[in-house]
Amino acid sequence: MDIHEHQAKAILAEFGVPVPRGHLAFSPEQAAYACRQLGGSTCVVKAQIHSGGRGEAGGVKLCRSEDEVRSYARGLLGRTLVTRQTGAAGKVVHRLWIEEATDIAQEIYLGFVLDRKSERIMIVASGHGGMEIEQLAETDPGSLVRMVIDPAAGLVEFQARELAFKLGLKGKQVAQFVTTLRACYRAYRDLDAMMVEINPLAITGAGDLVALDAKMSFDTNALYRRPQVEALRDPSQEDPREAMAHDNGLAYVGLDGDIGCIINGAGLAMATMDMIKLAGGEPANFLDIGGGASPERVVTAFRTVLADANVGVILVNIFAGINRCDWIAKGVVQAYQEVGLSIPVVVRLSGTNVEEGREIIRTSGLPLLSAETLAEAAKLAVRARPQPVAAE
Ligand code: GDP
Ligand code: MN
Repeated sequence: MDIHEHQAKAILAEFGVPVPRGHLAFSPEQAAYACRQLGGSTCVVKAQIHSGGRGEAGGVKLCRSEDEVRSYARGLLGRTLVTRQTGAAGKVVHRLWIEEATDIAQEIYLGFVLDRKSERIMIVASGHGGMEIEQLAETDPGSLVRMVIDPAAGLVEFQARELAFKLGLKGKQVAQFVTTLRACYRAYRDLDAMMVEINPLAITGAGDLVALDAKMSFDTNALYRRPQVEALRDPSQEDPREAMAHDNGLAYVGLDGDIGCIINGAGLAMATMDMIKLAGGEPANFLDIGGGASPERVVTAFRTVLADANVGVILVNIFAGINRCDWIAKGVVQAYQEVGLSIPVVVRLSGTNVEEGREIIRTSGLPLLSAETLAEAAKLAVRARPQPVAAE
Protein backbone atom coordinates (compact mmCIF):
# COMPACT_ATOMS: atom_id res chain seq x y z
CA MET A 1 0.00 0.00 0.00
CA ASP A 2 1.32 3.41 -0.99
CA ILE A 3 0.82 6.66 0.88
CA HIS A 4 1.22 10.33 -0.04
CA GLU A 5 4.43 12.31 0.21
CA HIS A 6 3.08 14.52 3.01
CA GLN A 7 2.07 11.46 5.02
CA ALA A 8 5.47 9.82 4.55
CA LYS A 9 7.15 13.07 5.59
CA ALA A 10 5.02 13.26 8.74
CA ILE A 11 5.94 9.69 9.66
CA LEU A 12 9.63 10.10 8.91
CA ALA A 13 9.79 13.42 10.78
CA GLU A 14 8.37 11.69 13.83
CA PHE A 15 11.24 9.22 13.66
CA GLY A 16 13.78 12.07 13.36
CA VAL A 17 14.24 12.84 9.64
CA PRO A 18 14.62 16.58 8.96
CA VAL A 19 11.85 17.80 6.62
CA PRO A 20 10.79 21.30 5.48
CA ARG A 21 7.73 22.96 7.06
CA GLY A 22 4.58 22.54 5.02
CA HIS A 23 0.77 22.53 4.95
CA LEU A 24 -1.88 20.52 3.19
CA ALA A 25 -4.39 22.21 0.87
CA PHE A 26 -7.54 20.94 -0.84
CA SER A 27 -8.48 24.22 -2.55
CA PRO A 28 -6.67 27.16 -4.18
CA GLU A 29 -7.68 29.37 -1.20
CA GLN A 30 -6.21 26.91 1.28
CA ALA A 31 -3.06 26.76 -0.82
CA ALA A 32 -2.71 30.54 -0.76
CA TYR A 33 -3.34 30.58 3.00
CA ALA A 34 -0.70 27.87 3.48
CA CYS A 35 1.76 30.03 1.57
CA ARG A 36 0.91 32.99 3.83
CA GLN A 37 1.55 30.86 6.91
CA LEU A 38 4.96 29.98 5.49
CA GLY A 39 5.89 33.65 5.14
CA GLY A 40 3.88 34.69 2.08
CA SER A 41 6.60 34.63 -0.55
CA THR A 42 8.55 31.81 -2.13
CA CYS A 43 7.21 28.30 -1.59
CA VAL A 44 6.89 25.01 -3.43
CA VAL A 45 3.50 23.64 -4.53
CA LYS A 46 3.47 19.87 -4.82
CA ALA A 47 0.71 17.68 -6.26
CA GLN A 48 -0.04 14.79 -3.92
CA ILE A 49 -0.52 11.67 -6.01
CA HIS A 50 0.79 8.17 -5.45
CA SER A 51 3.61 8.51 -7.94
CA GLY A 52 7.10 9.81 -8.43
CA GLY A 53 8.17 11.76 -11.49
CA ARG A 54 5.73 14.55 -10.63
CA GLY A 55 8.38 17.21 -11.24
CA GLU A 56 8.75 16.33 -14.94
CA ALA A 57 4.96 16.04 -15.31
CA GLY A 58 4.35 19.58 -14.04
CA GLY A 59 3.22 18.56 -10.56
CA VAL A 60 5.91 20.42 -8.60
CA LYS A 61 6.36 24.18 -8.89
CA LEU A 62 8.35 26.83 -7.14
CA CYS A 63 6.04 29.85 -6.68
CA ARG A 64 7.05 33.39 -5.73
CA SER A 65 3.84 34.75 -4.24
CA GLU A 66 0.47 33.87 -2.72
CA ASP A 67 -1.21 34.79 -6.00
CA GLU A 68 1.06 32.54 -7.98
CA VAL A 69 0.36 29.71 -5.55
CA ARG A 70 -3.38 30.26 -5.89
CA SER A 71 -3.41 30.24 -9.67
CA TYR A 72 -1.06 27.28 -9.96
CA ALA A 73 -3.16 25.37 -7.40
CA ARG A 74 -6.30 26.18 -9.39
CA GLY A 75 -4.74 24.66 -12.50
CA LEU A 76 -3.55 21.56 -10.69
CA LEU A 77 -6.47 20.51 -8.46
CA GLY A 78 -8.77 18.08 -10.22
CA ARG A 79 -6.29 17.56 -13.04
CA THR A 80 -5.05 14.10 -14.01
CA LEU A 81 -1.28 13.87 -13.94
CA VAL A 82 0.43 11.32 -16.14
CA THR A 83 3.95 10.52 -14.99
CA ARG A 84 6.45 7.89 -16.06
CA GLN A 85 5.12 5.79 -13.14
CA THR A 86 1.33 6.18 -13.36
CA GLY A 87 0.68 4.55 -16.73
CA ALA A 88 -1.45 6.25 -19.38
CA ALA A 89 -4.52 6.57 -17.11
CA GLY A 90 -2.64 8.91 -14.76
CA LYS A 91 -3.75 9.92 -11.27
CA VAL A 92 -6.09 12.70 -10.22
CA VAL A 93 -4.76 15.48 -7.98
CA HIS A 94 -7.10 16.03 -5.04
CA ARG A 95 -4.67 17.58 -2.57
CA LEU A 96 -1.58 19.74 -2.57
CA TRP A 97 1.34 20.01 -0.23
CA ILE A 98 2.61 23.57 0.16
CA GLU A 99 6.13 23.66 1.48
CA GLU A 100 8.76 26.23 2.34
CA ALA A 101 11.35 26.45 -0.45
CA THR A 102 14.80 25.00 0.05
CA ASP A 103 18.01 26.24 -1.45
CA ILE A 104 19.50 23.07 -2.95
CA ALA A 105 23.29 22.64 -3.29
CA GLN A 106 23.25 18.89 -3.97
CA GLU A 107 20.67 16.11 -4.29
CA ILE A 108 21.22 12.67 -2.77
CA TYR A 109 19.21 9.54 -3.52
CA LEU A 110 18.36 7.40 -0.51
CA GLY A 111 16.24 4.25 -0.64
CA PHE A 112 15.42 1.39 1.72
CA VAL A 113 14.09 -1.73 0.03
CA LEU A 114 13.60 -5.39 0.81
CA ASP A 115 16.41 -7.38 -0.78
CA ARG A 116 14.80 -10.74 -1.47
CA LYS A 117 18.11 -12.43 -2.19
CA SER A 118 19.62 -11.75 1.22
CA GLU A 119 16.17 -11.59 2.89
CA ARG A 120 17.20 -8.33 4.50
CA ILE A 121 16.56 -4.64 4.34
CA MET A 122 18.99 -3.00 1.94
CA ILE A 123 19.97 0.63 1.62
CA VAL A 124 20.61 2.02 -1.83
CA ALA A 125 22.13 5.49 -2.07
CA SER A 126 23.72 7.78 -4.61
CA GLY A 127 25.39 11.16 -4.46
CA HIS A 128 23.65 12.01 -7.74
CA GLY A 129 19.99 12.10 -6.67
CA GLY A 130 17.02 13.94 -8.12
CA MET A 131 16.29 11.58 -10.98
CA GLU A 132 14.39 8.30 -10.52
CA ILE A 133 16.31 5.24 -9.37
CA GLU A 134 15.57 3.44 -12.65
CA GLN A 135 17.22 6.27 -14.57
CA LEU A 136 20.10 6.37 -12.13
CA ALA A 137 20.69 2.64 -12.54
CA GLU A 138 20.82 3.16 -16.29
CA THR A 139 22.78 6.36 -16.66
CA ASP A 140 24.98 6.37 -13.56
CA PRO A 141 25.19 2.88 -12.00
CA GLY A 142 28.69 3.58 -10.69
CA SER A 143 27.31 6.16 -8.27
CA LEU A 144 25.05 3.62 -6.52
CA VAL A 145 26.14 2.40 -3.11
CA ARG A 146 24.39 -0.59 -1.50
CA MET A 147 24.42 -1.77 2.07
CA VAL A 148 22.60 -4.72 3.64
CA ILE A 149 21.40 -4.45 7.24
CA ASP A 150 21.79 -7.29 9.69
CA PRO A 151 18.39 -7.68 11.40
CA ALA A 152 19.93 -8.83 14.69
CA ALA A 153 22.27 -5.85 15.05
CA GLY A 154 20.03 -3.33 13.27
CA LEU A 155 21.57 -0.41 11.42
CA VAL A 156 24.71 0.30 13.43
CA GLU A 157 26.37 3.69 13.55
CA PHE A 158 29.68 2.81 11.96
CA GLN A 159 27.82 1.37 8.96
CA ALA A 160 25.80 4.55 8.58
CA ARG A 161 28.98 6.65 8.85
CA GLU A 162 30.71 4.50 6.26
CA LEU A 163 27.83 5.17 3.86
CA ALA A 164 28.05 8.91 4.59
CA PHE A 165 31.75 8.91 3.68
CA LYS A 166 31.10 6.93 0.50
CA LEU A 167 28.64 9.65 -0.54
CA GLY A 168 31.30 12.29 0.16
CA LEU A 169 29.46 13.93 3.06
CA LYS A 170 31.46 16.15 5.37
CA GLY A 171 31.38 17.72 8.85
CA LYS A 172 27.92 18.11 10.40
CA GLN A 173 26.33 16.34 7.43
CA VAL A 174 27.77 13.03 8.60
CA ALA A 175 25.95 13.15 11.93
CA GLN A 176 22.76 14.39 10.22
CA PHE A 177 22.99 11.57 7.70
CA VAL A 178 23.45 8.97 10.46
CA THR A 179 20.36 10.32 12.24
CA THR A 180 18.34 10.29 9.00
CA LEU A 181 19.43 6.79 8.07
CA ARG A 182 18.61 5.32 11.47
CA ALA A 183 15.26 7.11 11.55
CA CYS A 184 14.33 5.67 8.15
CA TYR A 185 15.40 2.21 9.22
CA ARG A 186 13.32 2.34 12.40
CA ALA A 187 10.28 3.64 10.50
CA TYR A 188 10.70 0.88 7.91
CA ARG A 189 11.05 -1.85 10.51
CA ASP A 190 8.54 -0.67 13.09
CA LEU A 191 5.75 0.02 10.59
CA ASP A 192 6.20 -3.03 8.31
CA ALA A 193 7.19 -0.93 5.33
CA MET A 194 8.28 -2.42 2.01
CA MET A 195 9.99 0.71 0.76
CA VAL A 196 11.20 4.06 2.05
CA GLU A 197 12.62 6.48 -0.47
CA ILE A 198 13.94 10.00 -0.01
CA ASN A 199 14.73 11.51 -3.37
CA PRO A 200 16.09 14.04 -3.15
CA LEU A 201 17.67 14.18 0.25
CA ALA A 202 18.99 17.68 -0.29
CA ILE A 203 22.14 19.32 0.98
CA THR A 204 21.13 22.93 1.44
CA GLY A 205 23.21 25.99 0.67
CA ALA A 206 23.99 26.16 4.40
CA GLY A 207 25.27 22.57 4.26
CA ASP A 208 22.39 20.87 6.11
CA LEU A 209 20.50 17.77 5.08
CA VAL A 210 16.75 17.91 4.50
CA ALA A 211 14.31 15.42 2.94
CA LEU A 212 12.63 17.24 0.03
CA ASP A 213 10.62 14.25 -1.13
CA ALA A 214 9.49 11.09 0.65
CA LYS A 215 7.81 7.91 -0.45
CA MET A 216 6.75 4.97 1.67
CA SER A 217 4.94 1.80 0.79
CA PHE A 218 3.72 -0.85 3.19
CA ASP A 219 3.21 -4.58 3.35
CA THR A 220 -0.54 -5.08 2.90
CA ASN A 221 -0.34 -8.41 4.72
CA ALA A 222 0.80 -6.59 7.86
CA LEU A 223 -1.85 -3.85 7.79
CA TYR A 224 -4.04 -5.77 10.24
CA ARG A 225 -1.56 -4.83 12.95
CA ARG A 226 -0.86 -1.29 11.71
CA PRO A 227 -4.25 0.44 11.89
CA GLN A 228 -2.54 3.85 11.99
CA VAL A 229 -0.95 3.04 8.62
CA GLU A 230 -4.10 1.58 7.10
CA ALA A 231 -5.91 4.80 8.04
CA LEU A 232 -3.66 6.60 5.53
CA ARG A 233 -5.05 4.64 2.60
CA ASP A 234 -6.39 6.85 -0.22
CA PRO A 235 -8.71 4.87 -2.54
CA SER A 236 -8.76 7.78 -5.02
CA GLN A 237 -5.18 6.89 -5.89
CA GLU A 238 -5.77 3.19 -6.39
CA ASP A 239 -6.81 1.26 -9.47
CA PRO A 240 -10.63 1.28 -8.98
CA ARG A 241 -10.74 -2.43 -9.86
CA GLU A 242 -8.18 -3.19 -7.15
CA ALA A 243 -9.93 -0.96 -4.59
CA MET A 244 -13.21 -2.83 -5.21
CA ALA A 245 -11.47 -6.21 -4.86
CA HIS A 246 -9.71 -5.06 -1.71
CA ASP A 247 -13.05 -4.03 -0.18
CA ASN A 248 -14.39 -7.52 -0.94
CA GLY A 249 -11.34 -9.28 0.49
CA LEU A 250 -10.22 -10.67 -2.88
CA ALA A 251 -6.58 -10.88 -3.96
CA TYR A 252 -6.68 -8.99 -7.27
CA VAL A 253 -4.17 -7.31 -9.53
CA GLY A 254 -5.41 -5.44 -12.59
CA LEU A 255 -3.61 -6.10 -15.90
CA ASP A 256 -3.99 -4.85 -19.47
CA GLY A 257 -5.45 -7.85 -21.35
CA ASP A 258 -9.05 -8.92 -22.07
CA ILE A 259 -9.28 -12.39 -20.51
CA GLY A 260 -10.77 -12.08 -17.03
CA CYS A 261 -9.49 -14.76 -14.64
CA ILE A 262 -11.18 -16.31 -11.61
CA ILE A 263 -8.85 -18.81 -10.02
CA ASN A 264 -8.13 -20.36 -6.66
CA GLY A 265 -4.61 -20.14 -5.30
CA ALA A 266 -1.83 -17.75 -6.29
CA GLY A 267 0.27 -20.52 -7.83
CA LEU A 268 -2.53 -21.75 -10.08
CA ALA A 269 -3.34 -18.13 -10.97
CA MET A 270 0.26 -17.57 -12.10
CA ALA A 271 0.26 -20.84 -14.05
CA THR A 272 -3.05 -19.90 -15.70
CA MET A 273 -1.73 -16.52 -16.76
CA ASP A 274 1.30 -18.25 -18.28
CA MET A 275 -0.95 -20.68 -20.17
CA ILE A 276 -3.10 -17.82 -21.48
CA LYS A 277 0.01 -16.08 -22.79
CA LEU A 278 1.27 -19.33 -24.30
CA ALA A 279 -2.06 -19.71 -26.10
CA GLY A 280 -1.63 -16.21 -27.53
CA GLY A 281 -3.88 -14.25 -25.15
CA GLU A 282 -3.48 -11.56 -22.50
CA PRO A 283 -4.95 -11.82 -18.99
CA ALA A 284 -7.02 -8.85 -17.78
CA ASN A 285 -6.28 -9.58 -14.17
CA PHE A 286 -4.88 -11.84 -11.52
CA LEU A 287 -7.63 -12.92 -9.14
CA ASP A 288 -7.36 -15.50 -6.39
CA ILE A 289 -10.71 -16.34 -4.78
CA GLY A 290 -8.92 -18.32 -2.07
CA GLY A 291 -10.03 -21.50 -0.35
CA GLY A 292 -13.53 -22.58 0.65
CA ALA A 293 -15.18 -20.05 -1.67
CA SER A 294 -18.97 -19.91 -1.38
CA PRO A 295 -21.22 -19.37 -4.42
CA GLU A 296 -21.70 -15.77 -3.20
CA ARG A 297 -17.95 -15.22 -3.22
CA VAL A 298 -17.80 -16.52 -6.78
CA VAL A 299 -20.50 -14.01 -7.75
CA THR A 300 -18.47 -11.20 -6.14
CA ALA A 301 -15.43 -12.35 -8.09
CA PHE A 302 -17.48 -12.14 -11.33
CA ARG A 303 -18.64 -8.63 -10.46
CA THR A 304 -15.06 -7.57 -9.75
CA VAL A 305 -13.72 -9.01 -13.00
CA LEU A 306 -16.60 -7.50 -14.98
CA ALA A 307 -15.96 -4.05 -13.53
CA ASP A 308 -13.08 -3.97 -16.02
CA ALA A 309 -14.58 -2.86 -19.33
CA ASN A 310 -11.73 -4.49 -21.26
CA VAL A 311 -12.83 -7.98 -20.25
CA GLY A 312 -14.22 -9.88 -23.25
CA VAL A 313 -14.19 -13.43 -21.89
CA ILE A 314 -13.94 -14.99 -18.44
CA LEU A 315 -11.89 -18.01 -17.54
CA VAL A 316 -12.77 -19.84 -14.32
CA ASN A 317 -10.06 -22.28 -13.35
CA ILE A 318 -10.46 -24.20 -10.09
CA PHE A 319 -8.36 -26.96 -8.68
CA ALA A 320 -10.45 -27.72 -5.63
CA GLY A 321 -8.82 -28.98 -2.48
CA ILE A 322 -10.46 -27.03 0.31
CA ASN A 323 -12.78 -25.58 -2.31
CA ARG A 324 -15.76 -27.56 -3.65
CA CYS A 325 -16.40 -27.70 -7.38
CA ASP A 326 -20.17 -27.84 -6.81
CA TRP A 327 -20.11 -24.56 -4.87
CA ILE A 328 -17.99 -22.93 -7.55
CA ALA A 329 -20.37 -24.21 -10.27
CA LYS A 330 -23.36 -22.89 -8.34
CA GLY A 331 -21.59 -19.55 -8.06
CA VAL A 332 -21.00 -19.44 -11.82
CA VAL A 333 -24.67 -20.17 -12.55
CA GLN A 334 -25.77 -17.64 -9.94
CA ALA A 335 -23.44 -15.02 -11.45
CA TYR A 336 -25.09 -15.60 -14.84
CA GLN A 337 -28.52 -15.02 -13.36
CA GLU A 338 -27.65 -12.07 -11.11
CA VAL A 339 -25.10 -10.18 -13.18
CA GLY A 340 -26.64 -10.81 -16.59
CA LEU A 341 -23.51 -12.03 -18.34
CA SER A 342 -23.23 -11.32 -22.03
CA ILE A 343 -19.68 -12.56 -22.67
CA PRO A 344 -18.36 -16.12 -23.03
CA VAL A 345 -17.33 -17.99 -19.90
CA VAL A 346 -14.89 -20.91 -19.89
CA VAL A 347 -15.02 -23.20 -16.86
CA ARG A 348 -12.42 -25.76 -15.90
CA LEU A 349 -13.09 -27.68 -12.71
CA SER A 350 -10.92 -30.28 -11.06
CA GLY A 351 -10.64 -31.82 -7.58
CA THR A 352 -13.18 -32.09 -4.75
CA ASN A 353 -16.75 -32.80 -5.94
CA VAL A 354 -15.75 -32.36 -9.56
CA GLU A 355 -18.52 -34.64 -10.89
CA GLU A 356 -21.25 -32.70 -9.06
CA GLY A 357 -19.70 -29.46 -10.28
CA ARG A 358 -19.56 -30.51 -13.92
CA GLU A 359 -23.12 -31.79 -13.70
CA ILE A 360 -24.33 -28.37 -12.54
CA ILE A 361 -22.50 -26.71 -15.44
CA ARG A 362 -23.81 -29.28 -17.94
CA THR A 363 -27.45 -29.07 -16.89
CA SER A 364 -27.50 -25.31 -16.37
CA GLY A 365 -28.74 -24.63 -19.88
CA LEU A 366 -26.27 -21.74 -20.02
CA PRO A 367 -23.77 -21.25 -22.85
CA LEU A 368 -20.79 -22.18 -20.65
CA LEU A 369 -17.68 -23.58 -22.29
CA SER A 370 -16.31 -26.53 -20.35
CA ALA A 371 -12.68 -27.63 -20.39
CA GLU A 372 -10.93 -30.61 -18.83
CA THR A 373 -7.38 -29.31 -18.64
CA LEU A 374 -5.78 -25.96 -18.03
CA ALA A 375 -4.19 -25.91 -21.50
CA GLU A 376 -7.56 -26.61 -23.10
CA ALA A 377 -9.24 -23.91 -21.00
CA ALA A 378 -6.63 -21.33 -21.99
CA LYS A 379 -7.03 -22.18 -25.69
CA LEU A 380 -10.82 -22.03 -25.45
CA ALA A 381 -10.66 -18.65 -23.73
CA VAL A 382 -8.29 -17.21 -26.34
CA ARG A 383 -10.53 -18.51 -29.13
CA ALA A 384 -13.68 -17.14 -27.48
CA ARG A 385 -12.33 -13.61 -27.28
CA PRO A 386 -14.25 -11.03 -29.32
CA GLN A 387 -11.13 -10.02 -31.28
CA PRO A 388 -8.71 -12.84 -31.90
CA VAL A 389 -5.05 -11.84 -31.88
CA ALA A 390 -3.40 -11.63 -35.29
CA ALA A 391 -1.09 -14.55 -36.02
CA GLU A 392 2.57 -13.64 -35.64
P1 GDP B 1 8.99 13.85 -7.87
O1 GDP B 1 9.30 14.43 -9.21
O2 GDP B 1 7.64 13.24 -7.83
O3 GDP B 1 10.04 12.91 -7.41
O4 GDP B 1 8.90 15.08 -6.83
P2 GDP B 1 10.05 15.78 -5.93
O5 GDP B 1 9.46 16.11 -4.64
O6 GDP B 1 11.28 14.95 -5.89
O7 GDP B 1 10.33 17.11 -6.69
C1 GDP B 1 10.94 17.12 -7.97
C2 GDP B 1 12.12 18.08 -8.00
O8 GDP B 1 11.69 19.38 -7.65
C3 GDP B 1 13.20 17.73 -6.97
O9 GDP B 1 14.11 16.77 -7.44
C4 GDP B 1 13.85 19.07 -6.76
O10 GDP B 1 14.88 19.25 -7.69
C5 GDP B 1 12.73 20.07 -7.01
N1 GDP B 1 12.28 20.62 -5.72
C6 GDP B 1 11.46 20.05 -4.84
N2 GDP B 1 11.33 20.83 -3.75
C7 GDP B 1 12.12 21.90 -3.95
C8 GDP B 1 12.45 23.08 -3.19
O11 GDP B 1 12.00 23.29 -2.06
N3 GDP B 1 13.29 23.96 -3.76
C9 GDP B 1 13.82 23.78 -4.99
N4 GDP B 1 14.64 24.70 -5.51
N5 GDP B 1 13.55 22.70 -5.72
C10 GDP B 1 12.71 21.77 -5.22
MN1 MN C 1 11.38 12.77 -5.91
